[in-house]
Amino acid sequence: MFILPREKPIQMSIIEALTRRLPKNHPLHPSLQKEYNQRKKGLVGEENVDYYLSYLPESQFHIFRGIRLIVDHKPFQIDTLLISRNLILLIEVKNRKGSLYFDDVYNQLIWSDEEKREVLEDPLQQVKRQSRQLIKWLQEKRQPNIPIEYLVVMGDSGTFIDPKSGPLYQKYILHAYSLEEKIDEIMQHYKKPLISNDALHRLSTKLLKHHNPLIIDPQKTYKYDPKDLIKGIQCEKCKRFGMGRTNRKWTCPFCGATSFDAHKAAIQDYFLLIKREISNKECRDFLKISSIKTAYTILNSMKLSYKGKYKNRIYFNQLRTGK
Ligand SMILES: [Zn+2]
Repeated sequence: MFILPREKPIQMSIIEALTRRLPKNHPLHPSLQKEYNQRKKGLVGEENVDYYLSYLPESQFHIFRGIRLIVDHKPFQIDTLLISRNLILLIEVKNRKGSLYFDDVYNQLIWSDEEKREVLEDPLQQVKRQSRQLIKWLQEKRQPNIPIEYLVVMGDSGTFIDPKSGPLYQKYILHAYSLEEKIDEIMQHYKKPLISNDALHRLSTKLLKHHNPLIIDPQKTYKYDPKDLIKGIQCEKCKRFGMGRTNRKWTCPFCGATSFDAHKAAIQDYFLLIKREISNKECRDFLKISSIKTAYTILNSMKLSYKGKYKNRIYFNQLRTGK
């Protein structure tokens, strides 16, 4: 059963908002696009792995996607974590088209395609490090001793794993489509449950409680000046900014499209790109509206947490961005 859902990385939401709100000729666009495509590929690979995991027996495994824990004041994140009464399994997901050769003499991963060749960090070392960190975490939290295994899974079925790779790797590296069979094979060695169903549920609850999602400061990370952002409300149809409000409805002056809730996306953009709280005045400025009453009505309609009264009210968002 899936316990922690896979979320779109917060960086992707920030880049989407920046792509909308930075002028077309802004110099940041190419690097934003590049990072977005890479993250998207990663997400597709992880979702591919989730698809094969969905075939596992529901009651046997608790599955956590992207859980981030802290041990020795250092965070570590596990792409996919499976816990059961018999065994804990960590899965590191890799997404890279081309050919991969795993060298077990120097613990390196050599990636190549027709044009290039690169040495990358060995994902097996990565997942081993995470399992050591997890063991430490479990000890600190006084959790029962359950054996830990790990795997490295290729989320993109177009990856060629060089069969000449070191034999040590053959046990741990596989394609996502072989995952179900591999987990079956591993479970053959761990037939005996070591903890009760209750203890498994307690461990699940503890993991979820200590999940510590990454919070990033968008302006520091992407190095943009908030002054460069385009203000106003974007038309969903023609994508231009400048919708105006009459009779509780937004209307696009360019294509005539109308909307009742186009302000929601704009306020989300504000939270993603500017800061985590907004006042009535800041809302009017960013949405380019003049009425205090309209700003009050739409902010209140968004069911945000707040403090203060009427036009001095400050509203807060729950997004995982800094500032
Ligand atoms: Zn329009």
